[in-house]
Amino acid sequence: MNKYEKTLKKYWGFSSFRPLQLDIIESISAGKDTLALMPTGGGKSLTFQVPALIMDGMCIVVTPLIALMKDQVENLQKNNISAVAIYTGLTYKEITNTINRCLYGDVKFLYISPERLSSANFINKLQHMKISFLAVDEAHCISQWGYDFRPSYLKISTIRELFPELSVLALTATATLEVVDDIQERLQFKEKNVFRKSFERDNLSYVVRQTDDKDKQLCNILKKVNGSAIVYVRSRRHTKEIADYLETKNITCSYYHAGLSYYDRNKKQEEWMTDKKRVIVATNAFGMGIDKPDVRTVIHYDVPDNIESYFQEAGRAGRDGEQSYAVMLYNKSDNAKWTKRIADTYPKKETVLSCYESLASFLQVAEGDGDDKVFAFDLLKFARLFKFRAIEAYSSLKLLQASGYLELTDEVNTPTRLMFIVNRDALYHYNLRNKDCELLIKLILRTYTGLFVSFVKIDEDFFCDKLSITKETLYDYFTLMSAHGIIKIIPQRKTPYLSYTQPRLPTSYIKLSKAAYVDRKAKFKYKIDYMKYYASSQDRCRSSILVEYFGQKETKDCGHCDVCLKKKRILNSKDKIALNQRLLDNLKEKPKKLDLIIENEPESKEYLLNAIAYLLEEDKVYYNSKGLLCVNK
Ligand code: ADP
Ligand code: MG
Repeated sequence: MNKYEKTLKKYWGFSSFRPLQLDIIESISAGKDTLALMPTGGGKSLTFQVPALIMDGMCIVVTPLIALMKDQVENLQKNNISAVAIYTGLTYKEITNTINRCLYGDVKFLYISPERLSSANFINKLQHMKISFLAVDEAHCISQWGYDFRPSYLKISTIRELFPELSVLALTATATLEVVDDIQERLQFKEKNVFRKSFERDNLSYVVRQTDDKDKQLCNILKKVNGSAIVYVRSRRHTKEIADYLETKNITCSYYHAGLSYYDRNKKQEEWMTDKKRVIVATNAFGMGIDKPDVRTVIHYDVPDNIESYFQEAGRAGRDGEQSYAVMLYNKSDNAKWTKRIADTYPKKETVLSCYESLASFLQVAEGDGDDKVFAFDLLKFARLFKFRAIEAYSSLKLLQASGYLELTDEVNTPTRLMFIVNRDALYHYNLRNKDCELLIKLILRTYTGLFVSFVKIDEDFFCDKLSITKETLYDYFTLMSAHGIIKIIPQRKTPYLSYTQPRLPTSYIKLSKAAYVDRKAKFKYKIDYMKYYASSQDRCRSSILVEYFGQKETKDCGHCDVCLKKKRILNSKDKIALNQRLLDNLKEKPKKLDLIIENEPESKEYLLNAIAYLLEEDKVYYNSKGLLCVNK
């Protein structure tokens, strides 16, 4: 066993690396800038976690999604590894404490969201920390050409300038050739160095089903293929509707979207993870960080906007290596939906500007102000108040973000935090006088420590459970105690945050650069067009279309997508004879145009043309003077 395998075994209990993991680890350990491209679930995290444990100093991990960041930090802590995170939504004190631990403690991993890099204070502190290397997760976010560009990722170069010697490991699941180049350039790689795992998935069959009745088709597929399944839909409302429908067809079904409470999301996810429910109908909020190996089918009820997302979501099927299916349900009306999404994602420039203006009144930020302030931001309220459609407001803010004026984070879930603002003696006397709260206070003291020094996160459900009281009652107690000056409490909230990344400007100064608007819109459209091509193509291997998108040059037909299977069937001579007969019968009714025949036959165009060429050659059919195909009597 080499030292990396020993570390893997010691902290994670795994006995060997997966393909490419060790190559990446050795590359970054040798101090080389490295870009690792591996499909979701390939095991990217370990490629920075293992070497960081061996090297001196602390590894800085930049990652965009706060929920995932918390997940990873908790998992590391469970394995007795000292890991911390700093993100928008923590209190000033929490941030200072964490930074101090990094300065004076033995922290091995510091996770940060990219906005942190705009803080001069943070950058200043960073200079006094001992850093092993920099890991950039979801590295495609740094590229304008990626599907998820985040301007704050560009700030990562600040670290590069401060620590020219520091090497960087960039990780992503999805990147086209263009983005692969862009990532290395923007992260200032000293030399190009990419490790790429093949994007072909031998055990995954891609299928597109053209259908006008998606419900029925969905049900058929789930009846045909057994085992665990995910159904992706676009709207939150649909998740429940479709789940209810499937239940009526005796398919056990759960649903999931980001609008559910934390408790509900966990519950629904758990039901599915433990196979109490076979299917989960979800929006794309579901799946990140979820690692269920035996998903047999991923069905897209609605079509996604780009191959990157599709590939990532479909790829959640068959992680155990067993035969699995990724099915997309598609019909003509999806084309109109795609067109609408372009308009929704790129609202008119006037709308974007008016959004900027309204935002300032909403947050009460004067011209020249707002820099470095962070606001909890209620998008729906904002949209309602200023009469924007929610999607329009959201897209406008995202465009302003892409142009560098502000930053909108994903929803951050901050648990309730509580602290005693009296000392133990005073609390004791308070308890004597206020029997009502006594049980609660005792329970708090038994469960948590450090409450007299700083805010501590508490779990409200736990108290309600233990004391058999409702949330409302619990809050009555808290209100009482804070009115008595015993505690301070910061209630839980789930909200995105918004910050101005430069002082508010007069709206007439706002420029949506060509790169931020025109170019990105064109790219968005290109991605949708490619998606359309994938969905409507009838004669190219689906897997080839996908891996080609990611720049894999030599593609081979997978042999088991719907197109490949159709082609195979065609080689079967019995089918051939049957088709020839069917075509002849069809033309005997009356002469027809070639296009019409192709349109009404289930077989691929390529194959039909072949069959007709054969019939023409054998003089069984001919074209009449009107260009219609006729049968030779
Ligand atoms: P990615 O970031 O590439 O999507 P993760 O790093 O989240 O993937 O890893 C996916 C899953 O694979 C995790 O549950 C992880 O524990 C597991 N895994 C990764 N490497 C190995 C390995 N060498 N042996 C066993 N399990 C592994
Ligand atoms: Mg990952």
